[in-house]
Amino acid sequence: MALQGKKIWLDGEMVDWDKAQVHVLTHALHYGTGYFEGIRCYALDDGRSAVFRLDEHVRRLFDSGKILGFPLPYPFDRVKSAIMDVVRANGLKECYIRPVAFLGLGEMGLYAPDNPVHLAIAAWSWGAYLGDEGIKNGIRAKVSSYTRHHVNVMMTKSKVSGNYINSVLAKTEVKKAGYDEAIMLDPAGFVAEATGMNLFTVNGRRLRTTPDYAGILRGITRDAVMQVAREGGYEAEEYPLTRYDLYTADEVFLTGTAAEVTPVREIDGRPIGAGKPDDVPRGKLEEREMLLDHPRDQVA
Ligand code: PMP
Repeated sequence: MALQGKKIWLDGEMVDWDKAQVHVLTHALHYGTGYFEGIRCYALDDGRSAVFRLDEHVRRLFDSGKILGFPLPYPFDRVKSAIMDVVRANGLKECYIRPVAFLGLGEMGLYAPDNPVHLAIAAWSWGAYLGDEGIKNGIRAKVSSYTRHHVNVMMTKSKVSGNYINSVLAKTEVKKAGYDEAIMLDPAGFVAEATGMNLFTVNGRRLRTTPDYAGILRGITRDAVMQVAREGGYEAEEYPLTRYDLYTADEVFLTGTAAEVTPVREIDGRPIGAGKPDDVPRGKLEEREMLLDHPRDQVA
């Protein structure tokens, strides 16, 4: 079923959902020359809504444009307020927000420095990305036969549309084999991340996640989890994880804006810990209320 909402912000204007369209010769459609963000807005107990870590997401959107070499043609605060406006214009209390910048119509060659940079921002209701059952009872994952990007093959710290073909291949491969999610290894064989999430292992009170220098996206949820974990008395460190570390962890979980904190109960046919996410006390890490308490959230 096609997504349906009321309004989309497109190049500075709030337009009707169905009018937010592009030409078929849009550069990004052919070469993946777009970059985007995924942001979540949560309903609060007092009836208002809060956008989780808005500044960090907008900063990463600008950084993605800088890395690619076609920066956003708007000031930082304009993009921030446009995001809030989209949530309000669609009457959403809780939603997923998708800003996407892309190279538009102009030159068709690969070098197209003068093509316009467009920005669209949409929002819609989106529940648990890996399913309610997945968040509650854990998902089944498999290490993909596709390798994650080398840092000098793709700009992995930039959320570039074209980067995601690698994720689509891995996700499709494991879904067709009956699993929920793919875990991707880097070119040296260390654990990189899942197709749209970062990965953590838990052993006792120690959390480990793939180092920032690897070919992973610098996840904003990953950062929030490390912070909350440390505040909760856990050790949280970056560590070059191998398959061995996955198989022998007490717990493995994935973090991302869409997936939030999703436990993994099985990897490559091996149960993780006792094969149930609740066996090791995780504090309240997976409870998004804790993440929402963060003082930098923007309240709408
Ligand atoms: N890695 C990849 C490849 C992703 O697409 C995402 C989702 N943005 C993440 C990790 C998690 O990042 P975040 O927590 O900022 O959503």
